[in-house]
Amino acid sequence: MDIDVLVTRLASQGAKRIYIQAPEGLKTRVQEIASRIEAQGIEVLLGCDPTYGACDLRDKEAKALGCDLLLHIGHTDFGVRPVLPVLYEPYAIPIDLVPLLERHLPGLEGYRTLSLLTTIQFADALEPAARFLERQGKRILFAKQARNQREGLLLGCDWTAALPLEKEVDAYLYLGSGRFHPLGLALKTEKPVLALDVEQGTLTDLGKERDRLLRIKTYHRGIAKDATTFGILLTMKEGQGFVRQAFHLKTALQAMGKQAWILVMDEISPAKIAGMKLDVLVNCACPRMDEDFSLFKKPILNPADVYQLQREAAAADAHVMVEESAAAPRA
Ligand code: SF4
Repeated sequence: MDIDVLVTRLASQGAKRIYIQAPEGLKTRVQEIASRIEAQGIEVLLGCDPTYGACDLRDKEAKALGCDLLLHIGHTDFGVRPVLPVLYEPYAIPIDLVPLLERHLPGLEGYRTLSLLTTIQFADALEPAARFLERQGKRILFAKQARNQREGLLLGCDWTAALPLEKEVDAYLYLGSGRFHPLGLALKTEKPVLALDVEQGTLTDLGKERDRLLRIKTYHRGIAKDATTFGILLTMKEGQGFVRQAFHLKTALQAMGKQAWILVMDEISPAKIAGMKLDVLVNCACPRMDEDFSLFKKPILNPADVYQLQREAAAADAHVMVEESAAAPRA
């Protein structure tokens, strides 16, 4: 991030008071950034709540505090319609991935056509990585993410930069930190997803992790079949708030004879629902939250799981009706 350029952009927008939202990893630098902005006569408020993505804009809060602009650092536009202007400032981490790729070339043997993927922080490193791999005889493919014009960018809940290439690639290769983004893709595709972790220096095939999670999801659907009380988790975060879907899910669960409650909060946490009688949670917020079942100590279903249960229940009812009519005495 070039702070001088950022300050010029803020001044050109006529900002007098701004609210800064930054991801946790940037908290160590946010005061330095704010000082440079304040030196230009712009008042700064520092948002300290966790920021999970651009699905989580604090625009209403900023407006209520008299700000004329929200500076959202670290993510690109998610498509939320804000109530005041938002300046998205991606935070690029300069890195040369070639030495790490070179070290892990043996792990890429057997995969000739690869789709390279990363997050916005490492987007600049993608092109040199692709050229290096091409020199090693690999065929490299990219697709654009629906929400962004740059190629090869993954979100935790948006795989449009990957899935259109599924038929053509031998494997997906994610270059970045952590497993959150590549694991989301692994749950959506049958093709191998390899994660080259730039912090750990490791190359991991996420197949085992994917299979483990899929087994747990199936187990949770089994528990939900016999459960009676469901809590539908609904967040007020603008990019994650699916109110109509929450009511639809409640109706679907009630039609199966279940009791269902819509539970509203901003940040969803186990402490906020401690003490409530809930057998199973239904995630109507960030679609990746169903992986947090160990945190909530309860099964968490996604909406698709509820609709699958509904179909299974309808199929079971139809089966019983057929059996009953076959057993009925004929006139
Ligand atoms: S994965 Fe969740 S937190 Fe990340 S952008 Fe999507 S909805 Fe937001």
